[in-house]
Amino acid sequence: MRPFAYARASDARDAVERFGPGAMYLGGGTNLVDLMRLGVAEPESLVDVARLPYDAIDGDGDGLRIGSAVRNSDLAAHPVVRERYPMLARAVLSGASGQVRNMATVGGNLLQRTRCPYFQDVSKPCNKRRPASGCPAIEGDHSNLAVLGHSGQCVATHPSDMAVALAALDARVRVTGPDGDRTVPIPGLHRLPGDDPSRDTVLRPGELITGVDLPPPPAGASKYRKVRERASFAFALVSIAAVLEVADGVVRDCRLALGGVAHAPWRAEIAEAELRGVRAGEEEFARAAEAELSRARPLPRNAYKVPLARNLIVRTLQELVT
Ligand SMILES: Cc1cc2nc3c(=O)[nH]c(=O)nc-3n(C[C@H](O)[C@H](O)[C@H](O)COP(=O)(O)OP(=O)(O)OC[C@H]3O[C@@H](n4cnc5c(N)ncnc54)[C@H](O)[C@@H]3O)c2cc1C
Ligand code: SF4
Repeated sequence: MRPFAYARASDARDAVERFGPGAMYLGGGTNLVDLMRLGVAEPESLVDVARLPYDAIDGDGDGLRIGSAVRNSDLAAHPVVRERYPMLARAVLSGASGQVRNMATVGGNLLQRTRCPYFQDVSKPCNKRRPASGCPAIEGDHSNLAVLGHSGQCVATHPSDMAVALAALDARVRVTGPDGDRTVPIPGLHRLPGDDPSRDTVLRPGELITGVDLPPPPAGASKYRKVRERASFAFALVSIAAVLEVADGVVRDCRLALGGVAHAPWRAEIAEAELRGVRAGEEEFARAAEAELSRARPLPRNAYKVPLARNLIVRTLQELVT
């Protein structure tokens, strides 16, 4: 590991001021330190933001303010989150292990990097790690990579389960940086790769996540489901965060986000639009899923994700009706 300077920020302003060239923020370190050990990340300095006073969850269900330094375990165990946003608690608990969740912060979870095997192997080219070096995944092992929204430059997937639930809940990220404060909607925080896969998000250099704002819980029933290779300790092959509101057998509102299929949590807007105002039945759910997945461009070894995502959408929606 390359030597680096370390400083613990006292407040947000101090953190932003300390963020010079070659700096990176450090949350729980469960992703960043691994990448430093592998030689994938080589910061000159780390600005520790895990002990900033953003470790509280405030609100009563009319809306919730979650600090960026809240640990994943504390978020999943919070009584208001469990009662009013069970989909979010379930998504967080489906990720990593108890030990990792005890360390991992909300800010770090949202900004964790792809698990594409070539990204993590510095002996291989990778456009995300080294721009214009190539993407060996396209001809190589892409079995767990993207089927939607990818480009000829990168087919990586975004790994966070929490982000998928937050995308379906229309959460917003609070950010402070050299140019001041702003909020960014979570559907839209993560970029699709396009011509520049080196940038994962729309955040600007030096911008610090200080928290996440959740709007009041949506009406209707909700669910997070994750398909993975093992029962625990595995990233999603495909996951879904679904909210469905049905009145008199007709879909009044629906929000769907998919994980494991794209470079970002994938908000299934086409399926949502197909479903609003139609009968809440298996045929309609299947038609909406097909419409969404007609945009998929699978590669030879990840084509299985398309029927998997379709079946996951239909089955989850059916469970939300019954
Ligand atoms: C074995 C294992 C299995 C896992 N399985 C899953 C899984 O199934 N699902 C899942 O979702 N996750 C999984 N994870 C990932 C885990 O959830 C992440 O490592 C963790 O959430 C990252 O949080 P952190 O606070 O440790 O971030 P760090 O590692 O400290 O940082 C991650 C990134 O975020 C940046 N950062 C941190 N905080 C801020 C901030 N406030 N503002 C701006 N930038 C910031 C850092 O600079 C860095 O780039 C797994 C991890 C491990 C080790
Ligand atoms: S898919 Fe993206 S992260 Fe993986 S090798 Fe290609 S460019 Fe790198």
